[in-house]
Amino acid sequence: MLVRQLHKFGGSSLADVQCYQRVASILQQYSGDNDLVVVSAAGSTTNQLIKWADALESDGRVAHEVLQELRAFQTHLIEELLRSEQQSALLESLAIDFSELNGASWPLEETKRAYFLGMGEVWSSKLLAALLCRKEMPAVQLDSRHFLRAEKGTQPEVERVTSKQLLMNELAQHHDRRVVITGFMAQDHQGNTVLLGRNGSDYSATVIGLLAEASRVTIWSDVAGVYSADPRIVEEACLLPLLRLDEASELARLAAPVLHSRTLQPVAQSAIDLNLRCSHAPESGSTRIERVLASGRGAKIVTSLDDVVLLDVSIEHGHDFERCLEELSDVLAKAQLVPLAEEVQADRYKIRLAYTQEVARDVQDFIQAQSPLYHVDYQAGYSIVAAVGAGVTSNALHCFGFYQQLKHQPLEFVYETESELSLVAVLRQGSSKLILNALHAQLFQAQKRIAVALCGRGNIGASWLSLFETQQDVMNKRYGMQFDLVCVADSKNYWLDLDGLDASQVTGDGFEKHAVRNDNGWLAQLKEQQRYDEIVVIDATASAALTANYIAFAEHGFHLISANKLAGSAPSETYHLIQDAFSKTGRSWHYNATVGAGLPINHTVRDLHESGDTVVSFSGIFSGTLSWLFQQYTGDIPFSELVEQAWQQGLTEPDPRKDLDGSDVMRKLVILARESGLDIEPQAVKVESLVPEALNALSADEFFDHAEQLDDALLERVEKANEEGKVLRYVARLDRDGKASVGVEALPSNHALANLLPCDNIFAIESVWYKDNPLVIRGPGAGRDVTAGAIQSDLNRIAASL
Ligand code: ADP
Ligand code: ASP
Ligand code: MG
Repeated sequence: MLVRQLHKFGGSSLADVQCYQRVASILQQYSGDNDLVVVSAAGSTTNQLIKWADALESDGRVAHEVLQELRAFQTHLIEELLRSEQQSALLESLAIDFSELNGASWPLEETKRAYFLGMGEVWSSKLLAALLCRKEMPAVQLDSRHFLRAEKGTQPEVERVTSKQLLMNELAQHHDRRVVITGFMAQDHQGNTVLLGRNGSDYSATVIGLLAEASRVTIWSDVAGVYSADPRIVEEACLLPLLRLDEASELARLAAPVLHSRTLQPVAQSAIDLNLRCSHAPESGSTRIERVLASGRGAKIVTSLDDVVLLDVSIEHGHDFERCLEELSDVLAKAQLVPLAEEVQADRYKIRLAYTQEVARDVQDFIQAQSPLYHVDYQAGYSIVAAVGAGVTSNALHCFGFYQQLKHQPLEFVYETESELSLVAVLRQGSSKLILNALHAQLFQAQKRIAVALCGRGNIGASWLSLFETQQDVMNKRYGMQFDLVCVADSKNYWLDLDGLDASQVTGDGFEKHAVRNDNGWLAQLKEQQRYDEIVVIDATASAALTANYIAFAEHGFHLISANKLAGSAPSETYHLIQDAFSKTGRSWHYNATVGAGLPINHTVRDLHESGDTVVSFSGIFSGTLSWLFQQYTGDIPFSELVEQAWQQGLTEPDPRKDLDGSDVMRKLVILARESGLDIEPQAVKVESLVPEALNALSADEFFDHAEQLDDALLERVEKANEEGKVLRYVARLDRDGKASVGVEALPSNHALANLLPCDNIFAIESVWYKDNPLVIRGPGAGRDVTAGAIQSDLNRIAASL
């Protein structure tokens, strides 16, 4: 049996002389002698003919001008494309057609109007057939009305059996010739032209392909295929190389011009292989319609349509509304008049049906004719915006994104198709172009979206907010992701907004205005959110309660950045549980800011360990506060007085005992030991507290009143040290034998740990690789800016790992 293919060229492929030439070369290269070609009218010919027909009623002069323009265009095509001996036959038949057009007057009978509107296809098919002959591709023109039979209707159905017989008879006469067929038209049994609807030659192509048993139908247009949105509207739209048959059908049902609404029906009923390609650049890609129903995971295409009409069907009260509804859906489905979208308002005995303007009047008459119980109200001026793709209605992220984009639009209703193939919003007409672009970005942007939640609004939290404000755009660009600050919480209140918070408003008066009581509601909301791909929580508090949530953070899939030292220096069991929870869920936990503020100490030590070195011992001055105090302290001024000065300069914790009791240094030592691969328990560290027992029990204010109790013991030690040419320093040590201690030591005045700038930290690391000469990191180890910087560095690390 003869294997044929069918190629369909739309108006956009035949828009000018060059387009016709391109189509001829495509057929030379991609078609065989017996292939079929279906054409639409050239360029905007059909639109022009419609304009002419409409102007006949309103403005004879316009009608005349339109015809003149059309004739000039068609004549130009013929004269440019054909040799002079070929031209005369075509120009003659053109002259006959135009004299008919010129002779027409208003009112135009329906069948006559269809006859005239189909002339564009007659002209283009004749011209292309002649051009192919000129290019040594024997071809004949065939008027589809010779074989396609259909009765007039809102959606005319081609009679398959009769049409097939007639077509086969025609084709039998044309061996080894390409047959160029008019799209868009069929004929009823009275011999009248029946049009198949706007963009109907796509449907002609697949129906004729089915009748002629073509193996493949290729629809050539000005785009390479189906894109994730109309590429004329959304610049970033991407070509879809494969599209499921049911998804393509749904897109067509929603009247996207790329495929006429019923194009896919014949494909579904046959084994035709359907492809879409671009006639302007044939090798620029294609879309193939696939039959395998790969599982659908959500929207693939967004589409919009203006000039939508809402038919409000009211059913008389007192009748069985549900039954009427069922009957109405049945008759509409049978007549192929399924609406674009619908909304049932049972309480008002009303159903709202959306249709294209092209069919809406007919559908109104059709419904009205069904029963006197129906009253149909016609309301123009709507548009639809839809997301199409198998499974879209159960893809939470896509549904959320869809509603999110539409919530501020003049929305009438949203319709979720039962087939789960589309979400359709009906809007009062507005700028669907803007909405479509926003929706496309929301649903398909490859950019990851990262939500950041900050806990803690103290010194460090506030500093980080200011830093983030300057870094947000830079980060977005650097990583090609979108970082949004979505929540800021302190121990009492939180402010959450999934649209993103402006960091400067949080530091301004925004927090006071918008924050609500912190009942951990923010945590629940972040857990449920569907908008962001990743969530990063920053703990810039010293709160044990927040630390207790760390495992839950990991389980919710959050990443965590801690400036809070409690978890990193917790007993091993707790520490490992937290580490395991993060590694199990593949999320990151960083705590660069816990030791040495911004100094690159944690990562360095971890990196040494992970690169194969073995850390043998540590020593150093890990507290900026204690560093300052002992640099100043020579015994001349009482230690307690220096504590007060440091406190006044903001160099200590609000309660200085937290610095003086050594626990902070102990925690840093534990964290660092763990980073270097050593197992250590916080209780195993020998801690020397500078706070006598009696001062521990007092309130913060009382502590200052009695601070002189700090002095005696230290004075004795500093005097002794002075005598020996030594100085006192608060030193952290982890020795070779595993012993760990933090406390006051007397060091020779030229010792490396003795000569620092006030507030500096120093870390000396002895390892197998750094044995005789330890690795030393020193510099300011405290302060809000450097600590905020350390948090930001962790955020960068997380971003780079995503
Ligand atoms: P033809 O004249 O060849 O029939 P149409 O203009 O009818 O071509 O259809 C092609 C047009 O469909 C494209 O130029 C494009 O603007 C529009 N279109 C709408 N939605 C899509 C989509 N999702 N993918 C590709 N094209 C689309
Ligand atoms: N020429 C017709 C139209 O413009 C049919 C088609 O292009 O498919 O609607
Ligand atoms: Mg078209």
